[in-house]
Amino acid sequence: MKNIFSLAAAFLFYILFCSSGNSFSISTDPEPSTLSREEALSTITSQEFKDHLDFLASDEMKGRNTPSPELNKAADYIGAEFKRCGLLSPEGIENYIQWWEFGKEKAPNCIGYIPGTDPVLKDEYVVIGAHMDHVGAAMGQIHNGADDNASGTTGILELAEAFSSLKEKPKRSMVFMTFGGEEKGLLGSRHYVQNPVFPLDKTVAMINLDMIGRSEKNYLFIGGVETADKWEELIDGLKDKYNFDLETAPGGVAPSDNTNFFRKGIPVLFFFTNVHEDYHGPGDDPDKINFETAHNIAKLVFEVAYEVSFTDIKLEFKKIEQPALPSNFNQKMMERFGGMPNQKRLGIFPAEEVDETELKSLNLEEGCSAIKVDQVEKGSVAKKCGVKSGDFIVKFNGTSLSSDDPLRHLTKMIRKVEENKEIPITIIRDGQEMTLTAIWKSKEDKKKDNKF
Ligand SMILES: [Zn+2]
Repeated sequence: MKNIFSLAAAFLFYILFCSSGNSFSISTDPEPSTLSREEALSTITSQEFKDHLDFLASDEMKGRNTPSPELNKAADYIGAEFKRCGLLSPEGIENYIQWWEFGKEKAPNCIGYIPGTDPVLKDEYVVIGAHMDHVGAAMGQIHNGADDNASGTTGILELAEAFSSLKEKPKRSMVFMTFGGEEKGLLGSRHYVQNPVFPLDKTVAMINLDMIGRSEKNYLFIGGVETADKWEELIDGLKDKYNFDLETAPGGVAPSDNTNFFRKGIPVLFFFTNVHEDYHGPGDDPDKINFETAHNIAKLVFEVAYEVSFTDIKLEFKKIEQPALPSNFNQKMMERFGGMPNQKRLGIFPAEEVDETELKSLNLEEGCSAIKVDQVEKGSVAKKCGVKSGDFIVKFNGTSLSSDDPLRHLTKMIRKVEENKEIPITIIRDGQEMTLTAIWKSKEDKKKDNKF
């Protein structure tokens, strides 16, 4: 009986998978270690991108804040995918999760790897990483972080599957990582480089994917292209078939996890499609993701990582400290926040949830709102003027915060604040309204302070 069955099955398989016109219509859940390079590349699809991202950036994930049960759930999801693809969990790491301390709580990094096969190069490591956390919720609005950074995390999942589906095994060992705590200051990747699972001096490259989901007109930015002598030549040789509107920058420093690896003398690449009007806002949702370009970016990463992992190319590190950001990054941040990222900050982390009754108890005027302070950054302007966790900020420089997007409103006002001037910040603490005085010192004055 079997024979007839297997013949029929084979015929059915052909109908389903091979007659769909494209030469490599391989199932997008390929068996590990069966495919050629081109076949593995074609397992990276925009549909699968959508499936992963829709889950990671769904409301039930509550914006994957660090620490949170939802971030742990994302880590479990990623670990399960690594397992399904046949990646190994490193020695001493249970179920692909490296836990690290965040205050009294703990937060995850995910690590899975494909061991190299070359007798020498197998002890060298190529890291492909992305942060999986986002900012959670602010003012009761979930920030799903579809682009930031469910898109990069999905890229890691697609790449892990594609590389593990290859019949040929890499010469160097390939390490797939997702980090927690990026939004809180690159904490997860900092923990990793301070507690590396694989020796950093044997880590030959780190490729970082952060916000690859909102490309406009096929735009792609790659930072760090001069942090290794051969990056530019490699990318030049591979990029043409994707017709990206490609912008590159030489330096290895960016507001993302590649910076921690770069600081350890490791060549890095930073894949990014730039900030947009929903950056760190409640509107960063899956329905705005450009899956077509996002999955093509993952394909280019596949090709670059393949060259570094499957050949004995030698990458020489170059310490190019310049910030790796698109040329119009500042202008885009101005459009988004009304100012530059590294300009004035207050130094608070807003509370995720503020229940309506609490807000009502503040008796604010119609159309006004407040920001509940969750944490106050050490040494910040907020700390210096006495803002405390649990305070409600209701007015800034005499202006009430609008109920539309109080965080954006406050950020905009802070950006425009005059230096060395006393700025009243009105807060409500334990039902009592009080005014604190904040001062943003000019650089010179700050220097004088430091000298002191
Ligand atoms: Zn990010």
